[in-house]
Amino acid sequence: MTPRLRIAIQKSGRLGEGSIGIIESAGFRVIKGANELFYRIENAPIDLLCVRDDDIPTFVEVGIADFGIVGRNVVEEHGAGALTEVMKLGFGRCDLKIAAPVGFSYAGPQSLKGLRIATSYANTLKRFLERAGVWAEIVPMRGAVEVAPRLKLAQVICDLVSTGATLEANGLAAVDTVMQSEAVLIRSPIQRDDPELTHVAESVVQRLRGVSASRGAKYVMMNAPKASLAEISRILPGAGAPTVTPLAGREDAVAVHAVCQESVFWETLEQLRAAGASAILVLPIEKMM
Ligand code: ATP
Ligand code: ZN
Repeated sequence: MTPRLRIAIQKSGRLGEGSIGIIESAGFRVIKGANELFYRIENAPIDLLCVRDDDIPTFVEVGIADFGIVGRNVVEEHGAGALTEVMKLGFGRCDLKIAAPVGFSYAGPQSLKGLRIATSYANTLKRFLERAGVWAEIVPMRGAVEVAPRLKLAQVICDLVSTGATLEANGLAAVDTVMQSEAVLIRSPIQRDDPELTHVAESVVQRLRGVSASRGAKYVMMNAPKASLAEISRILPGAGAPTVTPLAGREDAVAVHAVCQESVFWETLEQLRAAGASAILVLPIEKMM
């Protein structure tokens, strides 16, 4: 049997869809068969190992999976050890925050001194408190951390927050950020000695890099007076040097094309117009390498 590369992904939950989505955007066709543990990639020797997110760092660390897609928060809590974070993937964004009952007066980590803090991220929180030189009691919980203050189990909590709606519904407000997180690609320290697999692994990395770079990036085209080129380059968000080409029959104006790595808002277009640009087009980018 020819060897196959393994990528561990979250079976369901918040990262499941995004993980399969980015793999499919990279051109790998995912076949969800009857087998619950593995999905096959039809057009490359790759299997997706579908597991609980908490187990992904372990599977990747011991080489049961070559790569994993998991929240950076999970890697941090597990301890990065020999795992390499290859790249951020741009989805599953959230913050690990300290939250306290509304009205709690917070003046930095010192305000946590001697308090009980409920969390599912005991290791990460411990490191945060140690860095700040503050001692507090950590109350480990598996889930539903936000109810701890109401139940008098703890005065404050340390939990993942994306919109803050859960906190608000429980009379809590975020007061500090322990870490920022998003889905990341991690790689196993255990390399498999197979030239074909090495090649497939490189293509996974290259393609995922291309997909995450092209997401959010836009191709912007416009006509502009030569005189305002410098100003227009300044306005374009996250663009390198733009491509400038002559316009037939126009001495004073040029066509400007640029890849913008950051979001292009209506305000940006208004600024471009104000700088003299016309016929502005913003196009999505499908692939980038
Ligand atoms: P599993 O059954 O796989 O253990 P889980 O319940 O531990 O799932 P999910 O709630 O699905 O995990 O969250 C998975 C990841 O999604 C988190 O580790 C985090 O990286 C990311 N995430 C993004 N936004 C949030 C949020 N608001 N709350 C929790 N996790 C979030
Ligand atoms: Zn989990």
